Amino acid sequence: MMIYFDHNASTMMHPKALSLMQELSGQILNPSSIHTSGRRAKNLLENARLQVANLLGIGGKVGAGGSDYIVTFTASGTEANNLIMSNFRDADIFISAIEHLSIIGQAKYFPNIKFIKVDHNGIVDLQDLKKQLEASGASKKLVSIMFANNETGAIQPLKEIADIVHYYGGLLHSDCVQAVGKIEVNLRDLNVDFSTISAHKFGGPVGAGALIYSAKHHLLPAIIGGGQERGLRSGTENVAAIAAFGLAAEIAQGELGERQRAVKKLQALLEQSLPESAIIACKSENRLPNTSLVMMPGFDAQTALIAFDLRQVAVSSGAACSSGKVAPSHVLGAMGVAENDAKSAIRVSFSHYNTEEEVGIFINHFREIYHLES
Ligand code: PLP
Repeated sequence: MMIYFDHNASTMMHPKALSLMQELSGQILNPSSIHTSGRRAKNLLENARLQVANLLGIGGKVGAGGSDYIVTFTASGTEANNLIMSNFRDADIFISAIEHLSIIGQAKYFPNIKFIKVDHNGIVDLQDLKKQLEASGASKKLVSIMFANNETGAIQPLKEIADIVHYYGGLLHSDCVQAVGKIEVNLRDLNVDFSTISAHKFGGPVGAGALIYSAKHHLLPAIIGGGQERGLRSGTENVAAIAAFGLAAEIAQGELGERQRAVKKLQALLEQSLPESAIIACKSENRLPNTSLVMMPGFDAQTALIAFDLRQVAVSSGAACSSGKVAPSHVLGAMGVAENDAKSAIRVSFSHYNTEEEVGIFINHFREIYHLES
């Protein structure tokens, strides 16, 4: 049986979210229609908006008029990240060097993007952030720093970052895609202005994401059309997927503590079972309880991945593969990890569906693949 340890890439839908999506998929549900089925679609959409808002600690005040946060549904986390960046083309934008490619990839096209350093543990250098914000003469400044890193799991001191950014007159966007459903994310407490999330990382479907932002900010659309999502994201909403997204959010909120305890146990078991020669990225840092990026210097991650795959174990590498070329991870590069070590990095990311028995089997395969004596 396949052992799936790649939940940061995508995790399975919660069975209840899946069955809701299947049930709704065959139905005509256009929330812009006035008739009964349109109104039903609208109710499903608004219910999902509240469920997502509750998960992010901003529930209760969301909705029309007087709301202080707005949840705008998009077709992915990637789209939400692009939407926020497209609103700050005339600003100075500061991003960390370990952001997801949907943020960092934009630097290729926009010269107004500057990089904030991270230290060797993958944590944003707050002095560099202050220095760069202070030096910026721009009247409009956006800082985009992810809450938790998809490769290492390192968690940033987001509240402290928000205080710094606001002190220097900037606004803060945080890609919370990997944090949501794994650790508590309370946007109100964190004082984040804009945030991105994605359903398929915590039990919802692929193809549903959201940009959540404080209602005091006015954003312009990147997709123009029928004016859906308060005009910020036109296109008829995928109600079946969004309703499943909402239900997955509600379930994740209710199960958060339980899920954290389950994956933390697996992470501890894995890390204590690995050989001494294994280096775990960001080990001493506040990290996601489900993520371990393991380096085995001298070994090639791609070869190891294939060997794991042949043994029915799904993990991923820290390396990004583009145009057929495998480049070492930009995240490890930014942390100053030697290229040779970075090329050996494999990422193990658990969910609460995994078991200690699976970790045991994985360790046995690991010993064989890396030629370790048992
Ligand atoms: N941001 C982070 C940190 C991610 O890990 C991912 C997906 O891997 C995304 C954004 C993109 O989300 P989506 O797959 O919904 O486009």
